[in-house]
Amino acid sequence: MRTTVGIIGAGPAGLLLARLLHDAGIDSVVLEGRDREYVEHRQRAGILEQGTVDVLRAAGAGERLDREGLRHDGIELRFDRKRHRVDFPALTGGRSVTVYAQTEVCKDLIALQLADGGPLLFEAEALEVEGADTDHPRVRFRHAGREDVLDCDYVVGCDGFWGVARNAIPAELTRVFERSYPYAWLGILADVAPSHDELVYARHERGFALLSMRSPSVSRLYLQVEEGADAEKWSDDDIWGELERRFETEDGWRLERGPITQKSVTPMRSYVHEPMRYGRLFLAGDAAHIVPPTGAKGLNLAVGDVVTFARALTYKKETGSEERLDAYSATCLRRVWQAERFSYDMTSLLHRAPDATPFEGRLQLARLERIATSRAAETDLAEAYTGFPFDEQGDERG
Ligand SMILES: Cc1cc2nc3c(=O)[nH]c(=O)nc-3n(C[C@H](O)[C@H](O)[C@H](O)COP(=O)(O)OP(=O)(O)OC[C@H]3O[C@@H](n4cnc5c(N)ncnc54)[C@H](O)[C@@H]3O)c2cc1C
Repeated sequence: MRTTVGIIGAGPAGLLLARLLHDAGIDSVVLEGRDREYVEHRQRAGILEQGTVDVLRAAGAGERLDREGLRHDGIELRFDRKRHRVDFPALTGGRSVTVYAQTEVCKDLIALQLADGGPLLFEAEALEVEGADTDHPRVRFRHAGREDVLDCDYVVGCDGFWGVARNAIPAELTRVFERSYPYAWLGILADVAPSHDELVYARHERGFALLSMRSPSVSRLYLQVEEGADAEKWSDDDIWGELERRFETEDGWRLERGPITQKSVTPMRSYVHEPMRYGRLFLAGDAAHIVPPTGAKGLNLAVGDVVTFARALTYKKETGSEERLDAYSATCLRRVWQAERFSYDMTSLLHRAPDATPFEGRLQLARLERIATSRAAETDLAEAYTGFPFDEQGDERG
């Protein structure tokens, strides 16, 4: 089998990249280790930055997103039983975010790809990338019970944190930056209308809580729990009780309960693999970086990476110049590190570390008060939350 771009992984990064290349007249093959059902139902991200929405629309995946996505013009910060709303458009010159589940983004992109795109092979597990530093990289993979080889001009590893692509980058050229956090998130899906029409980020002495949503009738809620916690040990009653305590306000706001349809625990990690390119192998999305979910940046970063790659390869096709491909890693990493910083800040602002001192607790409150009373501090949060520019220099002053 032969193609111009071999894409490993059909998460949001790989699927969107296949569309962007298709639209640019560049052929690709996507290899996905799992089956379609699994990819379409894996519950994960839900907040799309304005730039992500614009890219999905331009790629032809905007129709259902525009119909069913929920535009959000702000978030609420909750601390000391008080509420503070951050108004995104007022602080950022009109930017907002959209709530539309990653599962739906994947379904839309898969349908487009199968309708008129290049091959998308499910249950095709990449085993190894060979010859990344040559002009003819290859992906060895297993599909339908036998091994095969995909010959490519370029390989893009969109295979997530547990993928194989980045193993092809020699260890002596690699630097890894990481941090794990001494707590995790217990996430639930519940068949009940969201109790608030925007996301609520709560900082509480007992730990962090987040109210989010998937649709007007499905709530997504998270609780900070101890690292390694077992979701099944939490009864539904315990979960609702703990959420109620952490979201409690002095004005009598109420959290509506409903049947819990799914529970899972997510570890919290920050991770960056540098560089994001080696020869003709490029890494995109979670294959190269992980952020704790507090800042809602993971999927959006993945989109930024593949947009940068698709633009760079299109530029090469049109001009013959490799300049933008050469700049790929540095261009992406500028944005990645801004998202790492923001996700780290949001996480440490809102969570209670097991060894936190009363002094640190007071500092968190002082930082939250600062956001609630200083337009500059609030603007910094709003700009980062609604998204950093894709493949520019990062200077937003215009
Ligand atoms: C609970 C949770 C909540 C989150 N909330 C948000 C949020 O609100 N906003 C946000 O932006 N982000 C969020 N994220 C992060 C976001 O889901 C990820 O950043 C995003 O999925 C990254 O997309 P990706 O395509 O890079 O990787 P993935 O989605 O991990 O896709 C990688 C794909 O590669 C496949 N694969 C792996 N190995 C191989 C192989 N050897 N061969 C072939 N295929 C392979 C996998 O099966 C998978 O389909 C959240 C994550 C979690 C866990």
